Amino acid sequence: MTQHYRITLLPGDGIGPEIMAVAVDVLKLVARQLDLYLEFQEALIGGAASDATGNPLPEETLEMCRKSDAVLLAAIGGYKWDPLPRHQRPETGLLALRAGLGLFANLRPAQVLPQLVDASSLKREVVEGVDIMVIRELTGGIYFGKPKGIFETESGEKRGVNTMVYSESEIDRIGRVAFETARKRRKKLCSVDKANVLEVSQLWRERITLLSKEYPDVELSHLYVDNAAMQLVRWPKQFDTIVTGNLFGDILSDIAAMLTGSIGMLPSASLGASAPGVFEPVHGSAPDIANQDKANPLAQVLSAAMMLRYGLNQPAAADKIEQAVLKVLDAGYRTADIMSEGMKLVGCRAMGEALLEALQ
Ligand code: NAD
Repeated sequence: MTQHYRITLLPGDGIGPEIMAVAVDVLKLVARQLDLYLEFQEALIGGAASDATGNPLPEETLEMCRKSDAVLLAAIGGYKWDPLPRHQRPETGLLALRAGLGLFANLRPAQVLPQLVDASSLKREVVEGVDIMVIRELTGGIYFGKPKGIFETESGEKRGVNTMVYSESEIDRIGRVAFETARKRRKKLCSVDKANVLEVSQLWRERITLLSKEYPDVELSHLYVDNAAMQLVRWPKQFDTIVTGNLFGDILSDIAAMLTGSIGMLPSASLGASAPGVFEPVHGSAPDIANQDKANPLAQVLSAAMMLRYGLNQPAAADKIEQAVLKVLDAGYRTADIMSEGMKLVGCRAMGEALLEALQ
């Protein structure tokens, strides 16, 4: 029986519409090949939405997202909207989307593709074969804990306060996403905390350890965050799946991303408990190259593959897209951001055409 999925597309700003067009063509072809029925609907977000409606996340957009099976987002933002008041700025729309859908888990894979090993700033033997998934808790921890603010003490001195807080249920739900994800990978999970100093981390470690009893097939280890940062650049191949809180995950996912050296190649997924997930490239809207057919569409295309794998549970379709990406890189096609000597320089559209050919 043909599986039917409704997908909301949010092209956003800058290079967003260009890279989204490539991803949609790829999805349509793979759907035809695997007998999936993908119904696409498009909505406004970010600067484009602010221009049209005064609101960077119009209510219609959020409603449409809520009623779909998955959301594929490109990127938002640009210099043009910098002077706007905060409530109309593109980033406000993105944060409202994450909050509106209750997306508490952020998955960021960092894979060093053999064809792009030399794009990394680390030595070939250190990064060759790296394939890490960083899972960051997204809606709790020190970014949201209360009390927070800048307060004046009795002596008139100001004090800045943030609170790192996690409840058992918050740890358990991100822990489950992490164990389930590790299960779909190489079945190794490293939980990162600061349990030698922070009570909140002691609870984190206790709950993750308890949860591991339900996943005997997944090998669990723990690292303190300072050591994890060192290990990521010393010998990243030791990691498969990493799970950590909001603040530590913010930093570690960027370190892991930079092992690959190419921002135009990195996808991500944000998942909630029941609402659809949002799948988007890690990079921004690249206004410096927008509308010039220079953008690398591969992070967007790989985000579409993550959508199929983690959002729609269609791993065969995801595999097909990921293999097509490897094939075009093997054939030597490169956009400017990943160009190296002897390779064929192509624009965004031509990279899309090469992908379609690789899929045939
Ligand atoms: P950026 O990621 O947009 O660009 C950084 C550099 O990488 C630029 O030189 C850009 O040309 C290049 N680049 C990025 N993606 C590329 C791609 N697919 N192909 C080729 N080159 C690519 O980050 P920035 O310049 O700091 O921010 C630009 C705008 O994007 C800002 O308004 C920022 O707020 C927004 N932004 C949005 C998101 C998001 O939508 N999730 C994330 C980060 C930044």
